[in-house]
Amino acid sequence: AGLVYATVKVMNAFRRLYAAQQETAQRLAEALKAKSDFIADASHELRTPLTVLRGNAQLALAVDSSCAHAELLGEILREANRLSRLVEDLLLLARADAASLPLVRERLAVGPFLAGLADRAAALAREHGASLRAALEAEGWLEVDPVRIEQAVLALVDNAAKYGPRGGVVVLSSEIRGDELVIEVVDRGPGIPPEHLPLVFERFYRVDKARSRARGGAGLGLPIAKTIIAAHGGRIEAMSHPGQGTTMSVFLPLAAPASVPQPSSARG
Ligand code: ADP
Repeated sequence: AGLVYATVKVMNAFRRLYAAQQETAQRLAEALKAKSDFIADASHELRTPLTVLRGNAQLALAVDSSCAHAELLGEILREANRLSRLVEDLLLLARADAASLPLVRERLAVGPFLAGLADRAAALAREHGASLRAALEAEGWLEVDPVRIEQAVLALVDNAAKYGPRGGVVVLSSEIRGDELVIEVVDRGPGIPPEHLPLVFERFYRVDKARSRARGGAGLGLPIAKTIIAAHGGRIEAMSHPGQGTTMSVFLPLAAPASVPQPSSARG
């Protein structure tokens, strides 16, 4: 009887411990949700006044771009644009945290999609004084939100071009490996030291704060790219050799090859 009593006591203790753990987990989930709701709401509210600010600065510059205050207005517009990008980034991350990132998925042929992406990547690289070499061989189909995937890959191209040497070359390549599309962005820039490599996907993380700040980065480019790719069931892998360059590889699951005719279903 003593043994039975002891066993029941231990089981009850376990039960209480389990219930307490469940409650803590639920409280934690609620607190995290409240946090991402707050960031999402705040970002959303910041959008409108920022749009007005940017619109007015643009208008004032359009009316008289040679006025005495043109330089100040230009500065206001640049900073307001930067703030807008930051707000959009925070909104995206908060929505992804709340598992409510809206994805408008489309069925896309990989070839034409990547060709369009390469054009925009080339323009982006040029903005940083770099050039883009595209080696796109992949075929197949994707079922993704093209705007978001482009945003993610362009964030990688942006980094490759802005951290690489001026006049450097960024390589954008793609291939099929198994049932995945692999898109690689390669630069021959300064690279990322190994102790920083696992951290660069953390929010607001910058390896060299002075260098990043000078180039306008807030440390959200890689977390955003990772979040977008993860929301599509894919992943990003970073490989870097200091002094030699960086390779960022995006893995995306391919969609079924051909549109197999679906059995027609009658409604009535
Ligand atoms: P940022 O907006 O500062 O570029 P990211 O999240 O895109 O933020 O990148 C985080 C940090 O990782 C950067 O600040 C930079 O130090 C480093 N980094 C990212 N990509 C590269 C790259 N291709 N070459 C060298 N450093 C990089």
